[in-house]
Amino acid sequence: MELWQQMIRDSVHTVDQLVEKFNLDKKVAEELDEFFQARINPYYLSLIRYPGDPIWLQCVPDKVELNDMLGSEDPLNEDVMSPVPNITHRYPDRCLFLVTSQCGMYCRFCTRKRKVGDSGKISMKQLESAFKYIEEHSEIRDVILSGGDPLMLTDYLLERVLSRLRQIPHVEIIRLGTKMPCVLPQRITPKLCEMVKKYHPIYVNTHFNHPWEITEESIKACEMLVNTGCPVNNQAVLMKGVNDDAEVMKELMIKLLKMRVRPYYLFMADEVKGASHFRTSIDKGIEIMDHLRGHISGLAIPHFVIDAPGGGGKIPMLPDYVLHKDKEKIILRNYKHENFIYHEIEESDSVIDKSAHKGNGALSKKDNESSKNNGKKKVSVAEFEMNAN
Ligand code: SF4
Repeated sequence: MELWQQMIRDSVHTVDQLVEKFNLDKKVAEELDEFFQARINPYYLSLIRYPGDPIWLQCVPDKVELNDMLGSEDPLNEDVMSPVPNITHRYPDRCLFLVTSQCGMYCRFCTRKRKVGDSGKISMKQLESAFKYIEEHSEIRDVILSGGDPLMLTDYLLERVLSRLRQIPHVEIIRLGTKMPCVLPQRITPKLCEMVKKYHPIYVNTHFNHPWEITEESIKACEMLVNTGCPVNNQAVLMKGVNDDAEVMKELMIKLLKMRVRPYYLFMADEVKGASHFRTSIDKGIEIMDHLRGHISGLAIPHFVIDAPGGGGKIPMLPDYVLHKDKEKIILRNYKHENFIYHEIEESDSVIDKSAHKGNGALSKKDNESSKNNGKKKVSVAEFEMNAN
């Protein structure tokens, strides 16, 4: 048994362990276990600094989950968009392929609770129909292996999946959606990396939510994957009490970039059953993005998105940078809340009419001062034109 497998075996997962470790009432622990089982491996457990901290909140069952039984089991309609078992085909050229129900840790906010946990939730026997579906759909260029966590498969089983996909000519990209570098970095072994590099291009999408998850071990795991030739991206979820703070998010993004993990998405929390206590307002997310853009490298800025309920897909959300737009110009504000004009041009114009430009596009200090109000105050266009002349 490899170290990571021993650590899975030694996880906190029974009702009695939950009662003993986290002082949960036994009846509540039983109800929580029934709702969504726990798995907290010794590595992730060791990251907890105090009860209720951002690490604890993500992994320790909480009785508030039981107050939210009206939430959706499948908020993203993944099952409706599943033409065959284990496949979700939502976007034209890519599909999600669920290869296991197991994870290195069970996250209390998981969108896929209905699929994750006991092994009956995703049938490994039905992988064949999934392979066949991908083979028959030549528009699929990109397959995202998920679950559960595909790195819960042994190297042997994972290689069988990868080699089978690599026999399909139209599959150009394979992505591994894995939280292992964050929750159980010991899973990233030299043997795994040696195997993976035979099947490039392989991208890894991982999932760090808080700077405390960035440790010596997780840095090493990510660096091993990058050195194997896998671009590694991060998909974080905005969660109350975990990372709904601009400074925390900034620290997370900077640390990710430093270990060569590119911040890719920041998701609003999904409307999934048992997890409404994690949800923040959308304005909170926009405020955080406003504190990131311009203040840290563009490489460290994730796309802030809502994965639209009902399967609408990822929809980007931005702070309000456009203060005014008409046929001739657009007035924008930058990260310091200074305003600028950019002149519009007709698509058919091939020669730039320099006389159309008035001034250098920047607003006067006075105008900027008066329009700082979080970018919400609209600029007076007449005032702007006078100043530009
Ligand atoms: S690792 Fe992913 S699939 Fe598994 S419990 Fe966490 S969020 Fe859900």
